[in-house]
Order: sequence, then structure tokens, then C-alpha cells
Amino acid sequence: MIGARSGSPSDVMVPMVRLQQVTHVYVTDREASLAVENIDFSVATGEFVSLVGPSGCGKTTILSMIAGLLRPAAGQVLLQGRPVSGPSPEVGYMLQQDYLFPWRTIMDNALLGLELGKRVNEASRERTRLLLESMGLEGKEHLHPSQLSGGMRQRVALVRTLATNPGLLLLDEPFSALDYQTKLQLEDLIAETLRERGKTAILVTHDLAEAIAVSDRIIVLGRNPGHIRRTFDIPKSIREAQPFYARDQPGFNELFHEIWGELEASGVKE
Ligand code: ADP
Ligand code: MG
Repeated sequence: MIGARSGSPSDVMVPMVRLQQVTHVYVTDREASLAVENIDFSVATGEFVSLVGPSGCGKTTILSMIAGLLRPAAGQVLLQGRPVSGPSPEVGYMLQQDYLFPWRTIMDNALLGLELGKRVNEASRERTRLLLESMGLEGKEHLHPSQLSGGMRQRVALVRTLATNPGLLLLDEPFSALDYQTKLQLEDLIAETLRERGKTAILVTHDLAEAIAVSDRIIVLGRNPGHIRRTFDIPKSIREAQPFYARDQPGFNELFHEIWGELEASGVKE
């Protein structure tokens, strides 16, 4: 179902993700700190939403609550209408670092999520092999992570995330450790792969051009504590272009400057 990409999110359909007045407090032995407060947004099935904002505004905290790794202090996180109570196979979480196990082959790294869910069988193994192939990793199955480039390792991490077939992908700065060219190629590949498969995605990035190029919508956060400042819908012409070419679309620069202004204001202590 990719309808959400071509129209506005429907009120009738249950959103893939819904945060209702979500607040999170980190409690340590010395203090309690309010990380995010009253975060409220929904992401429709098939939608690609990016979270941008200054360091410490709670982006990772929000993803971790959606992933069921952190429990909100107040408010609710709903996944397809049901409250999140822990990690779910419906959600794939991909981090900035690839976290591949160096002693495992590429294939065995890619199968890790399936293995943890006791879902490795002939069919899932074949699907994973095809995924590796579609990511340009054919013939690398028996190599080890140290034998691959950073971009290839990130692609393996993506295959591992996709192998369990989650409907929702949470991507926490997955491209930030890569060189510019690799990053552009990977943006295209990921955007294309997720679009083709009708996946829902929430991307955290500090690269605003990247957020505009790949997203349907951008949520700008501010800090102290983390809160939503403003949401920007990406115009159709930019949304529908391949990320690499989205940057050449009319209106891209104007939108960049508008969101940039909001981001600059959000970096200021409030
Ligand atoms: P971002 O990903 O946007 O940089 P985070 O979600 O990591 O922000 O952090 C939000 C706020 O919560 C920050 O003020 C950060 O210092 C604090 N924080 C994050 N993780 C912890 C933790 N494990 N314990 C205490 N405070 C934390
Ligand atoms: Mg973070």
C-alpha cells in the first residue's frame, strides 16, 4: 500500500505509528531529566518521515520508544493502533554504525534478525540472498565485514533489517559515517527499496538536503526539552523524484532555506 505517498495521510486509516502526547524522562541515580515532552505525530502506512533537529533534541529517544526499547513516562505510542509494549518483528531498527559481527560472514550477519526470531529456513534464507543481490552484494555472502567498504557494510545492515520483513523501518543516521558519494548512492537505493516494498520509514538525519530528498514530510524538533517545532510537507515534484535528482527540482532551495531557518532557531537555547 503506497497510497500515502501520492495523497495526504487518510484520517480513516489507522496510522502505522502514532505518538500521543509522549513524554520521556531519563532517570539516573543522581537526577531525572526531561528528554522529550508532549510529542504528538502520526505516520501513515507507506509514508517516509524524517526527524531533524539539533543534537540532544530527542530524536533517538523517540525512535527507541517507537521500537519498544524505552517506555514513555507519559502518553502513548501506538503501532497500527495498538500500544507498544516491547520490541516487535513489525519494526526494524537500523543504527548509524553497522554493528555487524566481525567473526560472522556477510550471509550470517544478514540472517541475524531472522535467527533471533527463530525464522531461518530455506525460504527466508533465499529471500535474504535475493536481498543481498538486489543491494549489489552478490558474491560477497561468504566474506567477512572487514573485507567490505563502509558503504557495503551499511547495505548489509540494511539487508539484515529488511530480512525479517518489518513494515516499519527506523533509521537513525544510517548514512552519517559514509563519504558523500556513497551516501548519495545509498540514499537512492534505500529510498527506492522502501518505496518498491511499500515500507513505512522514519529517518533521523542531520543532513537537511537528504531529509528533503527522501521524505514525504519533515518534522523539525527543538530541545530543552525535545518538542516539535514545525512540520513541513514536501511538494509532490520533489517527493516523486529520485533522491539524487530531487535536489535539482524547482523549489528545493527555497524549501531548504525555509527549513534551515527553522532549524537555526531551534538550535538556540530556549
Ligand atoms: P538526539 O538523538 O536528538 O541527539 P537523544 O534522544 O539522544 O537526542 O537525547 C535527548 C536528551 O536525553 C539529551 O538531553 C540527552 O542528553 C538525554 N539522554 C539521552 N540518553 C540518555 C540516557 N541514557 N541517560 C540520561 N540522559 C539521556
Ligand atoms: Mg541521536
